[in-house]
Amino acid sequence: MNLVLFGPPGAGKGTQAAVLCTELGVPQVATGDIFRRHLKEGTPLGEKARSYMNKGQLVPDEVVWELVAARLSESDCESGVLLDGFPRSVRQAELLVAWMKDNGRSVDCVVALEVPDEALVARLARRRTCLSCGGTYHLDHAPVRVEGVCDACGGEVVQRSDDNEETVRARLETYHKTTSPVLTYFEELGLAQRVNGVGDIQSISQRLRIAIG
Ligand code: ADP
Ligand code: ADP
Ligand code: ZN
Repeated sequence: MNLVLFGPPGAGKGTQAAVLCTELGVPQVATGDIFRRHLKEGTPLGEKARSYMNKGQLVPDEVVWELVAARLSESDCESGVLLDGFPRSVRQAELLVAWMKDNGRSVDCVVALEVPDEALVARLARRRTCLSCGGTYHLDHAPVRVEGVCDACGGEVVQRSDDNEETVRARLETYHKTTSPVLTYFEELGLAQRVNGVGDIQSISQRLRIAIG
């Protein structure tokens, strides 16, 4: 099963991906997490991505695609994958669909989490993220057990530098302008389903299970 978990920043993609990947037995490919790992390690790819990420803009399609195509070709992705935060432009979506076809595979399902902008701003302001595994927490809705320490891996849990109000607003603008047309693209292919992303985390997991079938 090749699944795309779609939605604006803060919609709950990372939170729900953690649940779905375990249940479906497929790896999570989160482009934002991959870029943050490169940033931390100071690789050339990280350097290329840095200024875009800090401004809340998209990393150029060719740069993202090179990375995703390489990841999809790895053996653990052969029997399926959950894409989180990719595709974020119609160009990226076209490249993905073409790659799947060329490799005798297909995008099987796109589930889109819908959350109003004001709720997204509130969620992201209080989000905390594990520097090691990318796990996401929230000061009120999903706190860590021990302050500053990841429940899952023991890594350091911090506030992402782009989770400040100004950059969040820029990311939402990028989403509405460049990313939301991806949903229309997949709807026209008959692949997309919209899921209400407001409610408690368990109820949303259940809505996603039903949508995926
Ligand atoms: P995304 O990966 O789509 O950017 P996250 O999964 O990181 O979103 O969630 C954004 C923030 O909102 C995190 O702090 C997360 O703990 C919190 N969150 C996730 N789901 C919910 C929910 N259903 N209700 C309230 N807060 C949530
Ligand atoms: P969020 O959890 O808020 O949805 P991500 O962690 O997925 O954010 O992405 C963080 C940043 O990484 C984005 O603002 C963007 O600069 C860059 N990025 C991640 N995925 C992509 C992508 N598919 N295309 C272009 N840029 C991306
Ligand atoms: Zn962790």
